[in-house]
Amino acid sequence: MTTDTAAQAAYVVAALLFILSLAGLSQHKTSRSGVVWGIAGMVVALAATVGLASRSITATGLVLIAVATAAGAGIGLWRARVVEMTGMPELIAIMHSLVGLAATFVGWNGYLDVDAELSGSLLGIHHAEVFIGVFIGAVTFTGSVVAYLKLSARINSRPLTLPGKHVLNVGALVAFVGLTVAFVLRPGMGLLIAVTVIALALGAHLVASIGGGDMPVVVSMLNSYSGWAAAASGFLLSNNLLIVTGALVGSSGAYLSYIMCKAMNRSFISVIAGGFGTPAAAADDGEQGEHREINAEETAELLRDATSVIITPGYGMAVAQAQYPVAELARKLRERGVEVRFGIHPVAGRLPGHMNVLLAEANVPYDIVLEMDEINDDFAATSVVLVIGANDTVNPAATDNPSSPIAGMPVLHVWESAHVIVFKRSMAAGYAGVQNPLFFRENTQMLFGDARQRVEDILRGLDSLDAPVREMAGTSR
Ligand code: NDP
Repeated sequence: MTTDTAAQAAYVVAALLFILSLAGLSQHKTSRSGVVWGIAGMVVALAATVGLASRSITATGLVLIAVATAAGAGIGLWRARVVEMTGMPELIAIMHSLVGLAATFVGWNGYLDVDAELSGSLLGIHHAEVFIGVFIGAVTFTGSVVAYLKLSARINSRPLTLPGKHVLNVGALVAFVGLTVAFVLRPGMGLLIAVTVIALALGAHLVASIGGGDMPVVVSMLNSYSGWAAAASGFLLSNNLLIVTGALVGSSGAYLSYIMCKAMNRSFISVIAGGFGTPAAAADDGEQGEHREINAEETAELLRDATSVIITPGYGMAVAQAQYPVAELARKLRERGVEVRFGIHPVAGRLPGHMNVLLAEANVPYDIVLEMDEINDDFAATSVVLVIGANDTVNPAATDNPSSPIAGMPVLHVWESAHVIVFKRSMAAGYAGVQNPLFFRENTQMLFGDARQRVEDILRGLDSLDAPVREMAGTSR
């Protein structure tokens, strides 16, 4: 068997391992094995690619590849070990930016180092590939950098609304098509520089125009773009595995974007066009009346007398790492015969499935963790709802106020229950920058402070409420 045949066979094996990995990652219980399949696929892919390349590169080249692989693997291991769950979205965004940057470099290299054997229509196809690869790569690069800055709160998450922003976006696309035709007919460095600059500006503008509430779709959309950027590089490098892998990432990212759009009742076009077709309302983060406060002891008393409790966690639970005391609270209340369930919004936290992962980590049984659609009709018959660090996902403005920037987004109907206790540190708005009228409702009380500390206070409160009962039981024996 020649090296080439062996490498192509290894590529098929790697592609199958990547498909197995995606299948594993689609379910919580099998996600660990999904990661292992992915690592195995990547090892096979790297070994086959280096084996293939070793025929045509020098020993120095091989050493350089080994050094680059070791450095990349080292940085990857270090970041994965130190990253907090709350920092995952921005880590993913910055990783996507690297894929975009790599695709841009591969495209430029494809222009500077054209295969001498290419001529006629094949050369035209090669130049089209160069141009498309650079365009997708550069859009992915700056779009991901802006997403990173927004997700890590280094810049405001509010949408940028430049005058004529849709005209700018459409103009950039039209210019790209025109320049591609010109480049295929008469390739030149000036045209390549022009498309790189246009794509860098378009990527930054597209993501800067998207509001905080729509960021989940942006994360999955950039995931998809990074896949297509990799596929474009695969065409340029004549690497079949890179084409297959890029297409897998691109299409699964596109499907995830579709699922997120459905969950948020948004049209895909309106999100990627930065609010096209949606009311351009200004975010309102002002106070909207009087709010009432409650302390941990009073909350413990309320819970002691409750028959049913729903807990709706959000990003603040992840920040406070409150999942462990929250799981303990759920366990204690269930022991007392209270019906306890969790209501999970599809975009709660900062990652799809963020809350499910945290609750599973704290050993909350799967069967009491329900999706929004499964639990939304049950709030009206619930004694107490504990909103733990959630904000946008429980905001009634989404259903009541058509001019709200989050209008139309399905939310958890927590306000329909008898009592709502909101755990947060201040009256600040949620990620979308919109104030929450829930906080000013008659049946809502605010429990201020770090969510973990407040839940621990409630656990102590429940224990001290039980103490006299235990003492009486002890004396009567
Ligand atoms: P939000 O981000 O809307 O609100 C979180 C709340 O937690 C804040 O109001 C904050 O208030 C509170 N909080 C923060 N730290 C603590 C703490 N230590 N203790 C107690 N409270 C705390 O949360 P949601 O989960 O409801 O909504 C998610 C938002 O993120 C949505 O807008 C969604 O679109 C967006 N998003 C989601 C992604 C996903 O894939 N899931 C990806 C990107 C964005 P305070 O500061 O007063 O304490």
